[in-house]
Amino acid sequence: MIAVRRPPLGDNELAQRAAVETDRAIARAAAGDRVDFRPEVNRDFRPLLLELFNEKCAYCESAFGVAAQPDIENFRPKSAVKEAPGFPGYYWLAYRWDNLLLACQYCNHGKGNHFPIAGSRASSPADDLAAEQPLLLDPCIDNPADHLMFSEEGHCAGVTERGKVTVQILNLDRPALVAARKEAALLVEHTLQLVMMAAAKEQQQDRLGDLLSERQPYTAIRRHVAARLLDRRG
Ligand SMILES: [Zn+2]
Repeated sequence: MIAVRRPPLGDNELAQRAAVETDRAIARAAAGDRVDFRPEVNRDFRPLLLELFNEKCAYCESAFGVAAQPDIENFRPKSAVKEAPGFPGYYWLAYRWDNLLLACQYCNHGKGNHFPIAGSRASSPADDLAAEQPLLLDPCIDNPADHLMFSEEGHCAGVTERGKVTVQILNLDRPALVAARKEAALLVEHTLQLVMMAAAKEQQQDRLGDLLSERQPYTAIRRHVAARLLDRRG
């Protein structure tokens, strides 16, 4: 996971449609009716989300290949929260731009309706979300580098409570991810060593720049390995 700067959605046709659906969801909940969500509204956010997250899972940074269809993920779950039985979910955030992420099926499956927090939970549209302290990291709000660390072997572990909860819920140390991250780390390490050698050519420097780009999968471990190698070099 890496930090991603989310630009405002602005006022456009999609924002207006999302606002209408949000009002509808709030009105239904207020009347005691079941909120029927309209996934087609959120599907229209997909192109914006693909661009925002560089066509990678917002959580594990795996690239969405040509075959995989990324899931639109509600950071705060819209219709139930595992850690809060009886709570109807954050129905008023179902269509909110800043509550939407893109996740791979593995992360989405692990995340499910989990949304543990510290302190008290916002329970209605009138409540202040800023007062809630989510234990899960949001790449658009938090800096994951403060909470997660990587080994050169590709493992990911939390260094704070929030980091630990995030790794556990999303299963960010799953074997397939560890292997893919290790491969990415090795490539960066090898290229950086070439660049460090006096004989390094411009071509290798360009290659290194490309390898450390946010467009690549697993940017977090790539940066981690590069910083560690540069550190060691002094
Ligand atoms: Zn993922």
